[in-house]
Amino acid sequence: MNLSQNNRTALRSLNILNLFLLVSHTVLLILFAALGIELMVGVNVVSILFYSSSFVVIKKEKVTLYFITMFLEIMIHMFLAVLCTGWNVGFQLYFIGCVAIVFYVDYFNGRLGKRHIKGRWFSVVSCILYLTSFLITRFFGALYNLGEGFELVALVLNSVMVFVFVTLFFEILLKYAIFYEEEIGRQATHDKLTGMVNRHFLVQQLEDIYARQNISTYWLAILDIDNFKGINDKYGHLCGDFVLKTMAELIKQVCGERTVCRWGGEEFVIVGSDSDQDERNRSSSDILDEVRKCVAIKDFVYDEDTTVNLTVTIGAAHYQEDQTVDQWISTADARLYTGKQSGKNKVVESG
Ligand code: GH3
Ligand code: MG
Ligand code: MG
Repeated sequence: MNLSQNNRTALRSLNILNLFLLVSHTVLLILFAALGIELMVGVNVVSILFYSSSFVVIKKEKVTLYFITMFLEIMIHMFLAVLCTGWNVGFQLYFIGCVAIVFYVDYFNGRLGKRHIKGRWFSVVSCILYLTSFLITRFFGALYNLGEGFELVALVLNSVMVFVFVTLFFEILLKYAIFYEEEIGRQATHDKLTGMVNRHFLVQQLEDIYARQNISTYWLAILDIDNFKGINDKYGHLCGDFVLKTMAELIKQVCGERTVCRWGGEEFVIVGSDSDQDERNRSSSDILDEVRKCVAIKDFVYDEDTTVNLTVTIGAAHYQEDQTVDQWISTADARLYTGKQSGKNKVVESG
Protein backbone atom coordinates (compact mmCIF):
# COMPACT_ATOMS: atom_id res chain seq x y z
CA MET A 1 0.00 0.00 0.00
CA ASN A 2 1.40 3.37 -0.95
CA LEU A 3 1.13 6.63 0.94
CA SER A 4 -1.91 7.94 -0.91
CA GLN A 5 -3.85 4.69 -0.32
CA ASN A 6 -2.83 4.89 3.31
CA ASN A 7 -4.18 8.45 3.53
CA ARG A 8 -7.40 7.49 1.82
CA THR A 9 -8.02 4.68 4.32
CA ALA A 10 -7.35 6.99 7.25
CA LEU A 11 -9.63 9.71 5.84
CA ARG A 12 -12.38 7.18 5.17
CA SER A 13 -12.23 6.10 8.81
CA LEU A 14 -12.62 9.70 9.97
CA ASN A 15 -15.57 10.15 7.59
CA ILE A 16 -17.23 7.07 9.12
CA LEU A 17 -16.81 8.63 12.56
CA ASN A 18 -18.19 11.97 11.37
CA LEU A 19 -21.19 10.33 9.72
CA PHE A 20 -21.88 8.39 12.89
CA LEU A 21 -21.82 11.61 14.94
CA LEU A 22 -24.04 13.44 12.44
CA VAL A 23 -26.67 10.68 12.58
CA SER A 24 -26.51 10.50 16.41
CA HIS A 25 -27.06 14.25 16.72
CA THR A 26 -30.00 14.14 14.32
CA VAL A 27 -31.62 11.45 16.49
CA LEU A 28 -30.93 13.58 19.59
CA LEU A 29 -32.44 16.65 17.92
CA ILE A 30 -35.69 14.76 17.32
CA LEU A 31 -35.65 13.44 20.88
CA PHE A 32 -35.07 16.84 22.52
CA ALA A 33 -37.66 18.50 20.27
CA ALA A 34 -40.20 15.85 21.33
CA LEU A 35 -39.37 16.55 24.99
CA GLY A 36 -39.60 20.32 24.49
CA ILE A 37 -36.05 20.97 25.76
CA GLU A 38 -35.38 24.06 23.64
CA LEU A 39 -31.80 24.65 24.80
CA MET A 40 -30.78 21.19 23.60
CA VAL A 41 -32.69 21.58 20.35
CA GLY A 42 -30.58 24.72 19.68
CA VAL A 43 -27.38 22.92 20.66
CA ASN A 44 -28.21 20.03 18.33
CA VAL A 45 -28.94 22.30 15.38
CA VAL A 46 -25.47 23.83 15.84
CA SER A 47 -23.97 20.32 16.16
CA ILE A 48 -25.64 19.09 12.98
CA LEU A 49 -24.34 22.11 11.06
CA PHE A 50 -20.90 21.47 12.53
CA TYR A 51 -20.80 17.78 11.52
CA SER A 52 -22.21 18.52 8.06
CA SER A 53 -19.43 21.03 7.37
CA SER A 54 -16.79 18.79 8.97
CA PHE A 55 -16.73 16.53 5.89
CA VAL A 56 -15.02 19.43 4.09
CA VAL A 57 -12.53 19.89 6.95
CA ILE A 58 -11.67 16.16 6.80
CA LYS A 59 -11.34 16.30 3.03
CA LYS A 60 -8.78 19.09 3.43
CA GLU A 61 -6.95 16.82 5.91
CA LYS A 62 -7.25 19.41 8.70
CA VAL A 63 -7.54 16.51 11.10
CA THR A 64 -6.27 18.23 14.25
CA LEU A 65 -8.74 21.10 13.77
CA TYR A 66 -11.52 18.57 13.21
CA PHE A 67 -10.58 16.58 16.24
CA ILE A 68 -10.35 19.53 18.66
CA THR A 69 -13.63 21.11 17.51
CA MET A 70 -15.37 17.72 17.56
CA PHE A 71 -14.09 17.04 21.06
CA LEU A 72 -15.27 20.46 22.29
CA GLU A 73 -18.66 19.90 20.65
CA ILE A 74 -19.16 16.56 22.38
CA MET A 75 -17.99 17.90 25.74
CA ILE A 76 -20.24 21.01 25.66
CA HIS A 77 -23.14 19.05 24.25
CA MET A 78 -23.02 16.31 26.85
CA PHE A 79 -22.35 18.71 29.73
CA LEU A 80 -25.48 20.70 28.85
CA ALA A 81 -27.47 17.51 28.21
CA VAL A 82 -26.62 16.22 31.72
CA LEU A 83 -27.50 19.59 33.31
CA CYS A 84 -30.84 19.62 31.46
CA THR A 85 -31.88 16.00 31.93
CA GLY A 86 -30.05 14.92 35.10
CA TRP A 87 -27.76 12.08 36.02
CA ASN A 88 -30.42 9.37 35.70
CA VAL A 89 -30.77 9.77 31.93
CA GLY A 90 -27.14 8.73 31.33
CA PHE A 91 -25.76 11.39 28.95
CA GLN A 92 -22.67 11.45 31.17
CA LEU A 93 -21.79 7.98 29.80
CA TYR A 94 -20.73 9.67 26.56
CA PHE A 95 -17.88 11.37 28.47
CA ILE A 96 -16.46 7.88 29.02
CA GLY A 97 -17.27 6.75 25.48
CA CYS A 98 -15.52 9.82 24.10
CA VAL A 99 -12.18 8.44 25.32
CA ALA A 100 -12.51 5.74 22.61
CA ILE A 101 -13.00 8.47 19.99
CA VAL A 102 -9.90 10.34 21.22
CA PHE A 103 -7.64 7.35 20.65
CA TYR A 104 -9.42 6.38 17.42
CA VAL A 105 -8.75 9.83 15.94
CA ASP A 106 -5.24 9.86 17.34
CA TYR A 107 -4.46 6.58 15.58
CA PHE A 108 -5.68 7.74 12.16
CA ASN A 109 -4.10 11.15 12.72
CA GLY A 110 -0.80 9.31 13.07
CA ARG A 111 -1.47 7.35 9.87
CA LEU A 112 -1.86 10.68 8.07
CA GLY A 113 1.61 11.61 9.26
CA LYS A 114 0.30 14.26 11.65
CA ARG A 115 1.51 14.85 15.18
CA HIS A 116 -0.02 12.61 17.84
CA ILE A 117 -2.68 14.15 20.05
CA LYS A 118 -1.93 13.68 23.73
CA GLY A 119 -4.99 11.48 24.30
CA ARG A 120 -4.67 11.29 28.06
CA TRP A 121 -5.21 15.06 28.50
CA PHE A 122 -8.48 14.83 26.62
CA SER A 123 -9.45 12.01 28.98
CA VAL A 124 -8.65 14.26 31.93
CA VAL A 125 -10.91 17.03 30.52
CA SER A 126 -13.64 14.47 29.91
CA CYS A 127 -13.31 13.13 33.46
CA ILE A 128 -13.46 16.64 35.00
CA LEU A 129 -16.66 17.47 33.09
CA TYR A 130 -18.13 14.10 34.01
CA LEU A 131 -17.54 14.75 37.73
CA THR A 132 -18.57 18.43 37.55
CA SER A 133 -21.87 17.57 35.88
CA PHE A 134 -22.40 14.90 38.53
CA LEU A 135 -21.83 17.35 41.40
CA ILE A 136 -24.03 20.06 39.87
CA THR A 137 -26.98 17.74 39.20
CA ARG A 138 -26.47 16.05 42.60
CA PHE A 139 -26.70 19.32 44.53
CA PHE A 140 -28.97 21.45 42.33
CA GLY A 141 -31.01 18.88 40.43
CA ALA A 142 -31.72 18.80 36.67
CA LEU A 143 -33.24 21.73 34.78
CA TYR A 144 -36.03 19.48 33.43
CA ASN A 145 -37.89 16.72 35.18
CA LEU A 146 -38.63 14.08 32.59
CA GLY A 147 -40.33 11.51 34.80
CA GLU A 148 -39.05 8.19 36.00
CA GLY A 149 -40.40 6.12 33.11
CA PHE A 150 -38.73 8.26 30.47
CA GLU A 151 -35.48 8.41 32.43
CA LEU A 152 -35.36 4.64 32.56
CA VAL A 153 -35.89 4.20 28.83
CA ALA A 154 -33.39 6.99 28.00
CA LEU A 155 -30.78 5.50 30.35
CA VAL A 156 -31.10 2.11 28.65
CA LEU A 157 -30.86 3.69 25.20
CA ASN A 158 -27.86 5.86 26.09
CA SER A 159 -26.08 2.90 27.68
CA VAL A 160 -26.63 0.76 24.58
CA MET A 161 -25.47 3.60 22.32
CA VAL A 162 -22.25 4.07 24.27
CA PHE A 163 -21.51 0.34 24.24
CA VAL A 164 -22.25 0.16 20.52
CA PHE A 165 -20.00 3.04 19.57
CA VAL A 166 -17.13 2.04 21.86
CA THR A 167 -17.29 -1.47 20.34
CA LEU A 168 -17.60 -0.10 16.81
CA PHE A 169 -14.61 2.20 17.11
CA PHE A 170 -12.38 -0.39 18.71
CA GLU A 171 -13.39 -2.87 16.04
CA ILE A 172 -12.53 -0.46 13.22
CA LEU A 173 -9.30 0.47 14.99
CA LEU A 174 -8.28 -3.15 15.42
CA LYS A 175 -9.21 -4.03 11.85
CA TYR A 176 -7.02 -1.28 10.44
CA ALA A 177 -4.19 -1.89 12.90
CA ILE A 178 -4.08 -5.56 11.80
CA PHE A 179 -4.36 -4.54 8.15
CA TYR A 180 -1.47 -2.06 8.41
CA GLU A 181 0.61 -4.55 10.36
CA GLU A 182 0.13 -7.22 7.68
CA GLU A 183 0.86 -4.70 4.95
CA ILE A 184 4.11 -3.60 6.60
CA GLY A 185 5.04 -7.26 7.11
CA ARG A 186 4.39 -7.92 3.42
CA GLN A 187 6.46 -4.92 2.36
CA ALA A 188 9.35 -6.20 4.47
CA THR A 189 9.33 -9.61 2.81
CA HIS A 190 8.27 -8.84 -0.78
CA ASP A 191 9.86 -7.08 -3.70
CA LYS A 192 7.81 -4.11 -4.85
CA LEU A 193 8.47 -4.40 -8.58
CA THR A 194 7.77 -8.11 -9.12
CA GLY A 195 5.67 -8.93 -6.04
CA MET A 196 8.02 -11.87 -5.39
CA VAL A 197 9.44 -12.70 -1.98
CA ASN A 198 12.73 -10.90 -1.37
CA ARG A 199 16.20 -12.01 -0.33
CA HIS A 200 15.48 -11.40 3.36
CA PHE A 201 12.46 -13.75 3.24
CA LEU A 202 14.32 -16.44 1.30
CA VAL A 203 17.32 -16.51 3.63
CA GLN A 204 14.89 -16.89 6.53
CA GLN A 205 13.15 -19.74 4.71
CA LEU A 206 16.47 -21.47 4.02
CA GLU A 207 17.39 -21.19 7.70
CA ASP A 208 14.02 -22.77 8.56
CA ILE A 209 14.58 -25.65 6.11
CA TYR A 210 18.09 -26.05 7.56
CA ALA A 211 16.69 -26.26 11.07
CA ARG A 212 14.18 -28.94 10.07
CA GLN A 213 17.07 -31.20 8.87
CA ASN A 214 15.38 -32.61 5.77
CA ILE A 215 17.54 -30.28 3.74
CA SER A 216 19.40 -33.03 1.82
CA THR A 217 16.64 -33.25 -0.82
CA TYR A 218 16.74 -29.52 -1.55
CA TRP A 219 18.29 -27.72 -4.52
CA LEU A 220 18.87 -24.04 -5.11
CA ALA A 221 19.43 -22.13 -8.35
CA ILE A 222 20.57 -18.59 -9.05
CA LEU A 223 19.29 -17.18 -12.32
CA ASP A 224 20.86 -14.08 -13.85
CA ILE A 225 19.60 -12.30 -16.95
CA ASP A 226 22.30 -12.12 -19.61
CA ASN A 227 23.47 -8.67 -20.76
CA PHE A 228 20.63 -6.96 -18.93
CA LYS A 229 22.49 -3.68 -18.61
CA GLY A 230 22.38 -3.44 -22.40
CA ILE A 231 18.55 -3.60 -22.33
CA ASN A 232 18.39 -0.68 -19.90
CA ASP A 233 20.91 1.25 -21.98
CA LYS A 234 19.15 0.56 -25.28
CA TYR A 235 15.44 0.73 -24.36
CA GLY A 236 15.43 2.62 -21.08
CA HIS A 237 14.97 1.74 -17.42
CA LEU A 238 11.16 1.41 -17.66
CA CYS A 239 11.52 -1.22 -20.34
CA GLY A 240 14.07 -2.95 -18.07
CA ASP A 241 11.50 -2.94 -15.26
CA PHE A 242 8.89 -4.39 -17.60
CA VAL A 243 11.27 -7.21 -18.56
CA LEU A 244 11.95 -7.97 -14.87
CA LYS A 245 8.22 -8.15 -14.09
CA THR A 246 7.48 -10.36 -17.09
CA MET A 247 10.48 -12.53 -16.32
CA ALA A 248 9.25 -12.99 -12.74
CA GLU A 249 5.85 -14.17 -14.01
CA LEU A 250 7.46 -16.54 -16.50
CA ILE A 251 9.76 -18.13 -13.92
CA LYS A 252 6.92 -18.58 -11.45
CA GLN A 253 4.77 -20.14 -14.14
CA VAL A 254 7.41 -22.73 -15.04
CA CYS A 255 8.47 -23.43 -11.44
CA GLY A 256 4.97 -24.02 -10.06
CA GLU A 257 4.87 -24.34 -6.28
CA ARG A 258 8.61 -23.85 -5.77
CA THR A 259 9.86 -20.73 -4.01
CA VAL A 260 11.07 -18.07 -6.42
CA CYS A 261 12.67 -14.95 -5.01
CA ARG A 262 14.00 -11.71 -6.48
CA TRP A 263 17.49 -11.98 -5.09
CA GLY A 264 18.43 -8.49 -6.22
CA GLY A 265 18.83 -6.53 -9.47
CA GLU A 266 18.33 -8.93 -12.38
CA GLU A 267 18.97 -12.06 -10.32
CA PHE A 268 16.38 -14.54 -9.12
CA VAL A 269 16.76 -17.54 -6.82
CA ILE A 270 14.64 -20.68 -7.11
CA VAL A 271 14.47 -23.22 -4.27
CA GLY A 272 12.94 -26.64 -4.69
CA SER A 273 13.09 -30.15 -3.30
CA ASP A 274 13.35 -33.49 -5.09
CA SER A 275 10.44 -34.60 -2.95
CA ASP A 276 8.19 -31.79 -4.27
CA GLN A 277 5.04 -33.05 -5.97
CA ASP A 278 5.51 -32.35 -9.67
CA GLU A 279 2.61 -33.11 -11.98
CA ARG A 280 5.06 -33.83 -14.86
CA ASN A 281 7.64 -35.64 -12.73
CA ARG A 282 10.34 -33.10 -13.56
CA SER A 283 13.76 -33.16 -11.93
CA SER A 284 15.56 -29.95 -10.96
CA SER A 285 17.50 -30.16 -14.27
CA ASP A 286 14.25 -30.47 -16.24
CA ILE A 287 12.71 -27.48 -14.49
CA LEU A 288 15.74 -25.21 -14.82
CA ASP A 289 16.32 -26.08 -18.45
CA GLU A 290 12.63 -25.44 -19.14
CA VAL A 291 13.01 -21.97 -17.57
CA ARG A 292 16.07 -21.27 -19.71
CA LYS A 293 14.36 -22.42 -22.92
CA CYS A 294 11.08 -20.57 -22.20
CA VAL A 295 13.01 -17.33 -21.69
CA ALA A 296 15.08 -17.83 -24.85
CA ILE A 297 12.01 -18.24 -27.08
CA LYS A 298 9.88 -15.57 -25.41
CA ASP A 299 9.21 -12.21 -27.03
CA PHE A 300 9.12 -9.56 -24.30
CA VAL A 301 6.79 -7.12 -26.05
CA TYR A 302 7.20 -3.76 -24.29
CA ASP A 303 5.35 -1.62 -26.85
CA GLU A 304 4.56 -1.58 -30.56
CA ASP A 305 8.15 -0.73 -31.49
CA THR A 306 9.99 -2.60 -28.79
CA THR A 307 10.26 -6.35 -28.56
CA VAL A 308 13.09 -7.64 -26.41
CA ASN A 309 14.65 -11.07 -26.65
CA LEU A 310 17.06 -12.31 -24.06
CA THR A 311 18.59 -15.29 -22.35
CA VAL A 312 19.43 -16.33 -18.83
CA THR A 313 22.26 -18.20 -17.19
CA ILE A 314 21.55 -20.42 -14.20
CA GLY A 315 23.90 -21.84 -11.57
CA ALA A 316 22.38 -24.62 -9.44
CA ALA A 317 23.43 -26.78 -6.50
CA HIS A 318 21.87 -29.58 -4.49
CA TYR A 319 22.50 -29.23 -0.78
CA GLN A 320 25.68 -31.05 0.28
CA GLU A 321 26.06 -32.51 3.72
CA ASP A 322 27.56 -30.19 6.38
CA GLN A 323 27.32 -27.11 4.18
CA THR A 324 26.15 -23.87 5.75
CA VAL A 325 23.43 -21.95 3.93
CA ASP A 326 26.04 -19.39 2.84
CA GLN A 327 28.32 -22.11 1.42
CA TRP A 328 25.37 -23.64 -0.43
CA ILE A 329 24.48 -20.28 -2.04
CA SER A 330 28.16 -19.69 -2.88
CA THR A 331 28.35 -23.04 -4.69
CA ALA A 332 25.39 -22.09 -6.91
CA ASP A 333 26.85 -18.62 -7.43
CA ALA A 334 30.22 -20.06 -8.50
CA ARG A 335 28.43 -22.24 -11.08
CA LEU A 336 26.52 -19.21 -12.34
CA TYR A 337 29.88 -17.50 -12.81
CA THR A 338 31.17 -20.55 -14.71
CA GLY A 339 28.10 -20.37 -16.98
CA LYS A 340 28.69 -16.68 -17.65
CA GLN A 341 32.35 -17.28 -18.43
CA SER A 342 31.59 -20.13 -20.82
CA GLY A 343 29.14 -18.34 -23.11
CA LYS A 344 25.90 -17.69 -21.10
CA ASN A 345 22.39 -19.05 -21.90
CA LYS A 346 23.00 -22.28 -20.00
CA VAL A 347 22.32 -24.18 -16.80
CA VAL A 348 25.38 -25.27 -14.79
CA GLU A 349 24.64 -27.86 -12.11
CA SER A 350 28.03 -29.32 -11.30
CA GLY A 351 31.69 -28.54 -11.22
P1 GH3 B 1 25.79 -10.36 -17.37
O1 GH3 B 1 25.33 -11.08 -18.57
O2 GH3 B 1 27.23 -10.56 -17.07
O3 GH3 B 1 24.93 -10.68 -16.19
O4 GH3 B 1 25.61 -8.82 -17.68
P2 GH3 B 1 24.53 -7.82 -17.15
O5 GH3 B 1 24.51 -6.63 -18.03
O6 GH3 B 1 23.23 -8.54 -17.01
O7 GH3 B 1 25.03 -7.54 -15.69
P3 GH3 B 1 25.45 -6.22 -14.96
O8 GH3 B 1 25.67 -6.62 -13.54
O9 GH3 B 1 26.56 -5.51 -15.67
O10 GH3 B 1 24.18 -5.30 -15.05
C1 GH3 B 1 23.03 -5.53 -14.31
C2 GH3 B 1 22.09 -4.38 -14.60
O11 GH3 B 1 20.83 -4.57 -13.98
C3 GH3 B 1 22.63 -3.06 -14.08
C4 GH3 B 1 21.42 -2.39 -13.46
O12 GH3 B 1 21.20 -1.12 -13.97
C5 GH3 B 1 20.27 -3.29 -13.82
N1 GH3 B 1 19.25 -3.34 -12.81
C6 GH3 B 1 19.34 -3.78 -11.54
N2 GH3 B 1 18.16 -3.65 -10.91
C7 GH3 B 1 17.29 -3.11 -11.80
C8 GH3 B 1 15.92 -2.72 -11.74
O13 GH3 B 1 15.22 -2.87 -10.73
N3 GH3 B 1 15.35 -2.19 -12.87
C9 GH3 B 1 16.07 -2.03 -14.02
N4 GH3 B 1 15.47 -1.53 -15.07
N5 GH3 B 1 17.38 -2.38 -14.09
C10 GH3 B 1 17.98 -2.90 -13.01
MG1 MG C 1 23.81 -9.86 -12.05
MG1 MG D 1 23.06 -10.16 -15.71
